[in-house]
Amino acid sequence: MLYRTHQAFGLFSTSLVLINYTHTPILSVPGVLALGTTLVTSVMPDADEPGSVSAKSLFPIAMALEMLRVTHRGPTHSLTIAALWFWLAASGAHWYVTIGALQFSLYPVLLGAAAGYLSHIVIDFPNKEGEQLLWPLKGRFALYLIPADGIVNSILEVVFLFASFFVVLYGLALQYPAIALMFQIAHHTLSIIPRA
Ligand SMILES: [Zn+2]
Repeated sequence: MLYRTHQAFGLFSTSLVLINYTHTPILSVPGVLALGTTLVTSVMPDADEPGSVSAKSLFPIAMALEMLRVTHRGPTHSLTIAALWFWLAASGAHWYVTIGALQFSLYPVLLGAAAGYLSHIVIDFPNKEGEQLLWPLKGRFALYLIPADGIVNSILEVVFLFASFFVVLYGLALQYPAIALMFQIAHHTLSIIPRA
């Protein structure tokens, strides 16, 4: 998948986690930090591909992976490493950051990072190149349906961007009555649109 398609799906996934699971307001320090972190972790696995946008922008990680001779879609695309992210998030469930009068939990940020990382592996799965999902086991898995770039990727990017925009807007409606009113009006017109 393309860089931006991964980021769009990462944003969509983390927005859902913030709204449905951690109940973190989107427009809050941990909410914005979680979405920002997701933009990084959702493309992090592709740092294992020399010359890719991810490898260039995350070059310290890319250099380390190259030194370790990590192959593309190997360990970085495994559920094992994704599980480590969720373990880190669970460990940080009671970590708080205090800056002056501001105090917030790191949990939504770490969980957002984990969701972003996992979202990369999930959306690479339909691709035509296998992922070493159960690393350190050697087997590679994929649905072998979609090329890693091309028109389907571009369509998915737009779909996921629209979906994340909708979910973020829904999250904002939970915070702001004026936006909630918009959802109520839209719901009366088209019942498939949820009430906020
Ligand atoms: Zn990938």
